Amino acid sequence: MCGIVAYLGPKDAYPFLIKGLHRLEYRGYDSAGIALLNKKLSVYKTKGKVSELEKFISGSNLNGHAGIAHTRWATHGEPNTINAHPHLSQNKKLAVIHNGIIENYASLKKTLIGRGYHFDSDTDTEVLINLIEDIQLNEKTELEEAVRIALNQVTGAYAIAILSQDNPDSMIVARKGSPMVIGVGEDEFFV
Ligand code: GLU
Repeated sequence: MCGIVAYLGPKDAYPFLIKGLHRLEYRGYDSAGIALLNKKLSVYKTKGKVSELEKFISGSNLNGHAGIAHTRWATHGEPNTINAHPHLSQNKKLAVIHNGIIENYASLKKTLIGRGYHFDSDTDTEVLINLIEDIQLNEKTELEEAVRIALNQVTGAYAIAILSQDNPDSMIVARKGSPMVIGVGEDEFFV
């Protein structure tokens, strides 16, 4: 079963995220990944264990006061590094982690391909983040509203966390049918 950890606040996100990923390991997973927001979004992900992610990530600049992290249990697309989360939207300004299934992803993907989107992974998750980007750009809405509109078009059970390069002081989370816990500290949030 997959897992989500996220942090937004005054501290560096990475130590909390990596500790959280280790604590989720008992649930089982096939790959792990982290996105950190430090002016730009940086995504690090690997097939295999969290310890392999740590090896892969070592030596990188791991600063960032907002971050999302994931252990994946593949449902759409084989367990490999490309399909691992987080996934970026096409303009690379949004990153998402997702637990669950977007049941109508195939028809949404077809529509997005028709609108010029291309996909790196085989996941339903990458469809969701590009749908959100497409709505945000075309309806010229705030990200929060774009997420609301997108989730109204989606069927399935999910828990998601989204970071946006253009909104560095916020994180958007949502869930339906999947559990998610938010911890509220002093000016900081834990998922
Ligand atoms: N359906 C998504 C995928 O296959 C999320 C799987 C999960 O819940 O870890 O990537």
